[in-house]
Amino acid sequence: MRKLLKGVHQFQTNYFSTHREMFEQLALGQHPRILFITCCDSRIDPNLITQTQPGELFIIRNVGNIIPPYGATTGAEGAAIEYAIEVLGIKDIIVCGHSHCGAMKGLLETSSLSEQIPLVYDWLKYAEATRRIIKENYQGYQGEELLNAAIEENVLTQVENLRTYPSVHAKLYRGQLNLYGWVYKIETGGVFVYSTERCHLKAEHDGDSPNQPDEQQLTPFPENGKRKDLNTYHLTPLNSPVCDH
Ligand SMILES: [Zn+2]
Repeated sequence: MRKLLKGVHQFQTNYFSTHREMFEQLALGQHPRILFITCCDSRIDPNLITQTQPGELFIIRNVGNIIPPYGATTGAEGAAIEYAIEVLGIKDIIVCGHSHCGAMKGLLETSSLSEQIPLVYDWLKYAEATRRIIKENYQGYQGEELLNAAIEENVLTQVENLRTYPSVHAKLYRGQLNLYGWVYKIETGGVFVYSTERCHLKAEHDGDSPNQPDEQQLTPFPENGKRKDLNTYHLTPLNSPVCDH
C-alpha cells in the first residue's frame, strides 16, 4: 500500500503537473472513440498496450472479458455497452482476450470451481458456448494449446454475445458500428487481431522492420456475421511485416 501512496504523490507532482491542460479538458467531458472490453487480469493495461491517454478508451473489465447475452442478467456490462453506444457515440468495440487467462483455465475445469469459487463458477456460465465449442472441436488439444484455443474462441463467443444487444444490433444494421477481436500475449507484448488476412502466429518475431501502424487496416467482423461466417478470419499479429499467405 505504501507503494501506491507514493505513486499517487508522484502522479500528482510529476505527470499531472505536466499534463494539466489535458486533465482540465477531460473535466469538461469524455469523448472516447473505442469501447475496449478485456479481462480483470492485473497483467493487462489497455492504455499501456495501446499507448492511449486518459479519456481515449471506454473500458469494460471483468473476469474473462465476458459479455453476458442480452437479457441474461441486468449486469454492469449491458449498461456500459448501452452508454458507450447511445450516449458516447462509440463506433468501434474491441473484445481483447489474453494469454494465460485464469478465467479460461477455470472454464476448462469448471467442475473444480463450484465449491471453491461459486461466484466465478456462475459467471463462467456466460462463456458456456466457448466451453462447448472447445469440448466438441478441440479433442486432440492439451495444456497450453487447449488454453490458447479457449482464449481465442472465447473472443469470438463474446463478439457474438455483443450482437445480441439491441443497441449493438441496430448500429451494425446501419453500418455504424465495428466489432473487433484481439488477443494480447503477455509474454511477448504481441497483439493479435482477427483479420481476413491469414498470418501464422509465429510471424510475431520474424523480421525486424514492422509495418508502420497506419499502413495496417483492421477488418471489422461482418455486420451480420455468425460464427460460421468468421471462418475467413484468422488471428494475425498486429504491426508485423510477415504474412505467409
Ligand atoms: Zn483473464
